[in-house]
Amino acid sequence: MKPKFKNIYKPIVRIDNKIRIGFESEALEIEDEDLSVEKFIHSLDGNKSIEELSQTLNITVDEVIDGISALDEYLLLEDADTISNLNMNQQERYRANLNYFSFHSNLHTPSESFQRKLNGSTVAILGIGGSSLISASLAGMGVGKIIGLDYDTVELSNLNRQFLYSEDDLGKLKTIAAEERLKKINKEIEIEMHNMKVTNAKDLLSIIDRADVVINAIDQPPITSSRWVNSACVHLNKTYLQGGVTNTRVVLQKIVPSGSCFDCYLIQSIKSVEGFDKQILSASTHNFSGRNTAYAPNIALMGSLFSTEISKHILSLNEREESFTADINNFDGIDYKKFPILKATNCPTCSNPHIFKEPVSFKELIQMAQVEDVFS
Ligand SMILES: [Zn+2]
Repeated sequence: MKPKFKNIYKPIVRIDNKIRIGFESEALEIEDEDLSVEKFIHSLDGNKSIEELSQTLNITVDEVIDGISALDEYLLLEDADTISNLNMNQQERYRANLNYFSFHSNLHTPSESFQRKLNGSTVAILGIGGSSLISASLAGMGVGKIIGLDYDTVELSNLNRQFLYSEDDLGKLKTIAAEERLKKINKEIEIEMHNMKVTNAKDLLSIIDRADVVINAIDQPPITSSRWVNSACVHLNKTYLQGGVTNTRVVLQKIVPSGSCFDCYLIQSIKSVEGFDKQILSASTHNFSGRNTAYAPNIALMGSLFSTEISKHILSLNEREESFTADINNFDGIDYKKFPILKATNCPTCSNPHIFKEPVSFKELIQMAQVEDVFS
């Protein structure tokens, strides 16, 4: 092992008898009246073993180990002796990623291990229209395999926000145009595209069963398509994200295995919002495509939130996993509100996930919401 003080925390600043590491509110201040800590940190250049540090600093091996253990607790060190499994091309391509992962690495978990996790992961994207920015982000991050699904062609009205596509792609199937573009972003990743229109939950099972995480960006038919994805993901124990843009609002939902699900969310909403039952019956039977308000800044906002959640999920950076719905209102400011989705004890979908079922009808779901104490 050759401990190295991480580059991302340099320079170290001295203020009177203290040294300050990091910036602003994140900064760590250490008392260092006799300059010994500063000298110790400067010696951690990644070229010396623990024994060599002991000789250079004229302190015992145990004192060196105590010092590096204390700094490692604050994630300030990495091991410069780690052998890289990334080739030169990958080290260059993912250089900024590796620097970013330095915020999470320590002496025993190198930055590179996070990149390798991304490279070994598979994300399924159902609907590659509004989510096209997310797919570009995943390809750039180095997610090893992207499974895409769509049945649409690229239209002129898509180009205000779906920046994976260009005017040259007009009329092309999105699955073909997306694959071409994603391979141009990162030829090292694997792309699998399915040109199909989803009409039930069952057809999704074979497409998402190899994915580590699923993105649902199918918008038609509204609510019904989300319930198909919900049934398939709950049955296969897949974490999935879904959401969209409505007027000035961006909605993001995350559903995790063994937590609550989208049907729980609908039951919760029917119980708590007067008239919601009539609203979902209406929304599920009408075509709202004429009032699409998908504006590029909001689509980009949604895309960055999705990419963030996917990255955290794949890299296991969340302290705890729970199903939630988040609502971002981008009007005269950006207001972010997040609520947990409660688990309905009589949920037709997640109360018995081992048996695969197509979603029950809306009428049955509304009846289930009439039962008292379903969240106790
Ligand atoms: Zn449920």
